[in-house]
This record gives sequence, C-alpha cells and structure tokens, in this order.
Amino acid sequence: MKKPLMRIPYTELFPPPPTIPATARSLPGAIAALQEFLHAPPPRDRDLPPSTVILTGAGLSVASGLADYRGANGTYRVNKTYRPIYYHEFLASHEARKRYWARSFLGWTTLRNAAPNAGHFAVRDLGRLGLVSAVVTQNVDSFHPRAHPEIPTLELHGYLRSTVCTSCWNEFPREGFQAELARLNPVWDAFLQEAIATGALATEDPHEKRERGMRMNPDGDVELPEAPYTTFRYPACPTCLSRRPVLADGTRGTVEVDQDGAWSPTSNAGILKPAVVMFGESIASRVKQAAEEAIDGAGKLLVLATSMATYSAWRLAKRAKDRGMPVGIVNIGGVRGEEMFFAGLDPDQPGRQGVRVEMSTDSLLPALVRELEQSKLRSTSVSPDDVSPQQNEAAVFKNMLQ
Ligand SMILES: [Zn+2]
Repeated sequence: MKKPLMRIPYTELFPPPPTIPATARSLPGAIAALQEFLHAPPPRDRDLPPSTVILTGAGLSVASGLADYRGANGTYRVNKTYRPIYYHEFLASHEARKRYWARSFLGWTTLRNAAPNAGHFAVRDLGRLGLVSAVVTQNVDSFHPRAHPEIPTLELHGYLRSTVCTSCWNEFPREGFQAELARLNPVWDAFLQEAIATGALATEDPHEKRERGMRMNPDGDVELPEAPYTTFRYPACPTCLSRRPVLADGTRGTVEVDQDGAWSPTSNAGILKPAVVMFGESIASRVKQAAEEAIDGAGKLLVLATSMATYSAWRLAKRAKDRGMPVGIVNIGGVRGEEMFFAGLDPDQPGRQGVRVEMSTDSLLPALVRELEQSKLRSTSVSPDDVSPQQNEAAVFKNMLQ
C-alpha cells in the first residue's frame, strides 16, 4: 500500500539562498535570467516540452493582504506560539471545531474582500505569452483560478471557498455557511460587524492588528486571545441532516441539531470542514496524481513565493528535478533543501539551466512580463513572410537599437 501524502507544518526558517546566475541580484539581472529560463529549449538529452509549470505558495498572496508563514511579517516570525489545528483534532473534538469556526468566521471577511494581485495577473500574462502550461498552488485563497481561469490550476491543498462534509463528502459554498454562522452566533456577528466598521479587520498592518487584540494567520484564521470560543455554534451538513449518511463501518450515522439548527454533540456524523487539506490530513490521490501530471506535462518548473516547507510541494519540485527539468525559484528567504535543485549547474550559464532569485514576486513578475511583451513586439514588428530570415533578424536587431 502506498504511503498517504499528508500536509505537515514545518515551522523552521531556512538558510539564506544563493543567487543564480550571479547577475540576477539586480532587478534587470533577474529579469534577464528569467527570460533565458522561460525561453530556453528543453535539455537536449531529455524528451520534454518547452513550456513551464509554475508552483506557488503563500508569499504570492501577501500583496493581497493575506498572511504568509515565513515572510517578513509571516506567522512563524511574528506569532511564535502559532500552531495550526490538525485534522484529527478537528474530527475528534466539538470544542476544537467551535474554536476553528469562530476564528474562521472572523477571518473569512478579510479573505472575501481580498483580491488577486499583480503577481497573479503576471502569471496570467505568462500564460497568454504561451510560456506557462499549468499552475500548481499550495494557496487556498482561489486567487489563481480567479486571475487566470484559462490556465489550468491545481489547488494542491484545496480551497476555502467551499466547505465539505466529512460523512457524505458533498461540498457547499462557504458564503452560505458564513451566513449560517452569523445567524447561529448573533453576539459574535455583532463583534464582527463592529470590527469591520472600525476597520480592525481591514488594516494590512500586522502590528496594528495585534494592538487591536487580533492575530491574523494563514488560511483565513483570526486569533482572539481569551475569546469565549466555547459559545460558538456551527451548522450540520444539510444533506446528512435530511438523510442519515452511511458511515465507514456500514452503519447509519446520527445527525442531530439544536432548536436553531446548530450541530449537536449527540451526533456522530454530518460534520462540515473547510474544503482545504488541513494539517495532518492526506491529500486525495486524484489531486496528488493531477499535480504530478501537471509537472510531467512541462519541461521546466518555476517556483514562486514559497519555501516549499510542506513535503507535498517539495516532492513535486524534486520530481521535476529528477525528470531533468531546469528549476527556477523566486522567493524571499531560503527554500527547503534547495541546494539539490542547483547542483551541477554551469557557473556561467545565464539562466537556462536554473535561476535562483531572492526578490518579491509582486515587483519582479510584472516587470518580467513587460520585458517579455516588449521583446515579443520587437521580434514580430516585421512580418516573417515579407523578408528572408537574415533580413528579419537584421530588422529585429535594428528595432532593438531604436
Ligand atoms: Zn453530509
């Protein structure tokens, strides 16, 4: 039997990264290296397609106002006691679920009001330029599918836009679930409305948030020290409530609710969870396989704004490396075991064999796209049908000098 692939948090910080090639320290140098990387033909000895698959993480959504794990204001730096809930705790404990949903109830507003940023739209533009075949993301904010529905996106760790029942596995929109949480928890809802009205949730300054007694964590989680989590109520799965589900042992589950429709602890089924892969939860085999297919369908891997601390992401990069795919990494701070991705590179290569840049994706990626678009314009400004290849090449160089 194959070992299940679990999402496990890894809270250590990594050693500082190298810069590859050495010229990629400056913004123009980094852009030039990434242009070489994206345009490079596949390695000669491998039968690989020329396109690139992108793997992204929490750092890409920081410019949208969401928390990441290891960035300058990342959760593991500013909130040392942060410990995400584990799937087995969520399943086993009514109290743990109350606490989770209370915090998620407050965090959802921030996530719902946030939008994809220039980094996501730059990925869309790389797709339009024909350079990117697929995106694999660890992010659960749905920003990739929103920013570029035309590029296939595989959400490795699921998505917060839905809840899913742990008995019948039906999915439900998070928006309707949020309305139910508000209805079942009027005092919490009043607190949330006040927090929204005073701007406590709108601020992107983590220090200001902490001063107001809140801590924002990734995955739409807001922490309120000493909040009365035990008073929180959450709804049962409507499908299981109307028809008792069949449990794993073949018996019928019991789903009961209180007079207002909140899940009752006399139940043993009908528990809704966010449609994300929680820590300690296994990634569904179909998702794991689809992620591997996305890697195998490309000739290069570009890693953006993630330290690949979770094994589920790291093993995809390792798979790419094992297939002979050049690997590019853009991330502030070190990446898990990154020396292996750049071992044996020609020190004089301009970026075709690999790139390592320590820069923010939200400034670098739009600048890269602008440069790629301009060089494409330059190369297509003379129709190749009208002139010989030599003349065409000369015209391109002439245009470049203008
Ligand atoms: Zn259900």
